[in-house]
Amino acid sequence: MTDAATSFRGRVARYDVLVPPPADGSTRARLGRLELPHGVVDTPQFMPVGTNATVKALDPLDIEATGASIILANTYHLYLRPGHERIARLGGLHRFMSWDRPILTDSGGFQVVSLGDLRVVDDDGVTFRSHLDGSVHRFTPEHSIAVQEALGADVAVAFDQPVTPSSPLDVVADATARTHRWAERSLAAHGRGDQALFGIVQGGLDPNLRASSAAFIAGLGFDGICIGGLAGDETPAQREAAIDVAVSALAKDPRPRYLMGLGSPADLLEAVDRGVDLFDSVLPARVARNGTLWVPGGKLNLRNSRFLDDAAPVQEGCPCPLCTRFSRAYLAHLFRARELLAYRLATCHNLTFTLDFMLRIRSALRAGTFPASLPELRLHAGPLSGREAAEKSA
Ligand SMILES: [Zn+2]
Repeated sequence: MTDAATSFRGRVARYDVLVPPPADGSTRARLGRLELPHGVVDTPQFMPVGTNATVKALDPLDIEATGASIILANTYHLYLRPGHERIARLGGLHRFMSWDRPILTDSGGFQVVSLGDLRVVDDDGVTFRSHLDGSVHRFTPEHSIAVQEALGADVAVAFDQPVTPSSPLDVVADATARTHRWAERSLAAHGRGDQALFGIVQGGLDPNLRASSAAFIAGLGFDGICIGGLAGDETPAQREAAIDVAVSALAKDPRPRYLMGLGSPADLLEAVDRGVDLFDSVLPARVARNGTLWVPGGKLNLRNSRFLDDAAPVQEGCPCPLCTRFSRAYLAHLFRARELLAYRLATCHNLTFTLDFMLRIRSALRAGTFPASLPELRLHAGPLSGREAAEKSA
């Protein structure tokens, strides 16, 4: 364990592994507790995404009722609209969106590369055109950190250059080296005393690049380690191999590990088994707005006419506002009529299902039954990986 790896303790974020992985190597899953300025996050944990300082269709009271303990907000989107300085003037992101539990902001790196037009990457930063109005902007590590300090989330993230997993090796190597230089600059620029800072591991699907990136980022004084550049166009087997390489390199590191962008229950379970503690994704909410409701063992497509006479709840025993009050028939009607309530109720349910699934995983870890209960948890998660789920409900 390096000095850098332990220097975060007692500062803004404190992470304790409550149940470490068993010595027999049957799983790398672990139970943990992350203390942040606005509250405690039990891990493994999923973070719903509030892109524009709102989880689409939900009020903060709805988000709380899903069981969420931390949400993610997008730096790129909030920088462009309504502007980080305006949010700072209005008292910061927590006050602006009326959410008093933990928030993590991403660095904007992913959106700059995936949404911005005419982007030019140089060693100092990225110049891009806004996807909203075509105006020209520039993000550097220092600027990303300044924007995130103005937003004031509990956790900020170092500025990185993500690339598509299937990119050629020289492209991945170049972006990974630049991500390392930007990690050091992000760390040097960060000064806000009530905000943690996580670094990002890149390295694509190449085992050597992935391992050396994990070792490099772990050598810096971040409060947590993000595993970036996955949940893209890789196969589940490629993703799992890359996670194994990164987690092996972090094996004795005491900080939380956050795999960015993964969201289907089946995918979350496999990543937890490989040692990942934190996740975020728009997937549960996005498929909900398309009428796909996650239930134990699979999914229901509420746009299907067979539900129009179905008086049963979407999921028997689910505590969400949809299942406790309304029938499948009513939700199917709302979707057909394009009523706004459909989006709220469906999103409440899918996030409740996802966060309850993480709770089931934590309960198994606490009880010491985790590797043994994997088959049962896999059945509950259902068969679909994230990409399949997104495509089929698109
Ligand atoms: Zn429900």
